[in-house]
Amino acid sequence: MKTKKFLLEEKEIPTAWYNIVADMKNKPLPPLNPQTKQPLKPEDLYPIFAKELSHQELNETDKWIEIPEEVRELYKNYRSTPLVRAYGLEKALDTPAHIYFKNESVSPIGSHKLNSAIAQAYYCKKEGITNITTETGAGQWGAALSYAARAFDLELAVYMVKISYHQKPYRRSIMQTFGAQVIASPSMSTKAGRKILTENPNYQGSLGTAISEAVELALQTPNCKYTLGSVLNHVMLHQTVIGLEAEKQMEMAGEYPDVVIGCFGGGSNFSGISFPFLRHKLTEGKEIRIVAAEPASCPKLTRGQFQYDFGDEAGYTPLLPMFTLGHNFAPAHIHAGGLRYHGAGSIVSQIMKDGLMEAVDIKQLETFEAANLFARTEGIIPAPESSHAIAAAIQEAKQAKEEGKPRTILFNLSGHGLIDMAAYDQFISGDLTNHELSDEELNKSLSVLEQII
Ligand SMILES: *Cc1c(COP(=O)(O)O)cnc(C)c1O
Repeated sequence: MKTKKFLLEEKEIPTAWYNIVADMKNKPLPPLNPQTKQPLKPEDLYPIFAKELSHQELNETDKWIEIPEEVRELYKNYRSTPLVRAYGLEKALDTPAHIYFKNESVSPIGSHKLNSAIAQAYYCKKEGITNITTETGAGQWGAALSYAARAFDLELAVYMVKISYHQKPYRRSIMQTFGAQVIASPSMSTKAGRKILTENPNYQGSLGTAISEAVELALQTPNCKYTLGSVLNHVMLHQTVIGLEAEKQMEMAGEYPDVVIGCFGGGSNFSGISFPFLRHKLTEGKEIRIVAAEPASCPKLTRGQFQYDFGDEAGYTPLLPMFTLGHNFAPAHIHAGGLRYHGAGSIVSQIMKDGLMEAVDIKQLETFEAANLFARTEGIIPAPESSHAIAAAIQEAKQAKEEGKPRTILFNLSGHGLIDMAAYDQFISGDLTNHELSDEELNKSLSVLEQII
């Protein structure tokens, strides 16, 4: 019998997260105060984030950050997640490549997002916070945070991107089941939302807008903090539990990946799976490729600019150094809602700038073809976001076949798609389309960047 699935024992679940910044030769540029253009100190972040998270955000020195016992206890409910050898997919592709995936879809919420949600809720609770706010795109982050807020007895208000609120009603119900308040964004409940709705009453929302609304609420509500499910350094940090486990599990499988792939929204699952492996390259000079798979309709890494930009549409957040399409960029309404974000986190952006990683952009139809093949061969219906990583893994496996050489591929299955069946329906009925992004549209959105800094 060939071993297909690798799991760790409870005691082998990581006890510390990996802070890659400590190992980076070129540290990410600091976040800036938008008014003064001065680098931010942890204290400057206290009004928005829990103190401990503010410190993690700017920590450049501690390579390992201990996972609190309470967090680790909750991790144990679903971790380790399985590392799986995709024999079925390999056979269908008739490839000499070995394909492995790390299955984060087994979390109670169905995605990797819980890894950071639990940590963020814990630090808020520990600090005596009673209320938290956030935004959610496809609903994955909101669902994860709803679970975590309940676990630590926090009240949660979620601004959900309007298009997803309507396209994915079941994610809303999941959040409400855990007791969260869910508001379609843009809404009339904030200044940022009212401004956007006045200018464009039919605007279907974006993550950037929803962030503006959630941050505004946090700033104006006593004892309330904002939380974010991607982009920020501390989120990348928490997600490294994925790659740290995968590192041990690949060892159990007796292999080392030639290439590690993650789909890319703001960068959290990609960082989570890849940073622990990238560490071998940074510290031991090991040969390994890491590849981010992003949507062709929201291509910040492949076609964006490296620039200081706001994390949100209204310009409430600090200025972050990022590969960006411009904070006013309105991505096409692809089904991978979690990938519809204009920028990449600052750690990934620096790593990209330094040539330590690659990025590929993939069209929507190709991702659904990949998803279909994966479902039929591996028995798991992937999230539309994760399908970008699958498509990239398939491209790698096909290349290996053309070259007639083996290749070990590891990708992150960031979530399952069981609540995304409306999207699969469209694919099955042939109604799904690609969304091309013209240079003209892109340049228009990038042109505002010059004015920021
Ligand atoms: C949110 C989400 C993503 C994209 O976010 P990253 O921070 O880039 O990982 C990818 N896959 C799933 C399943 C998600 O929920």
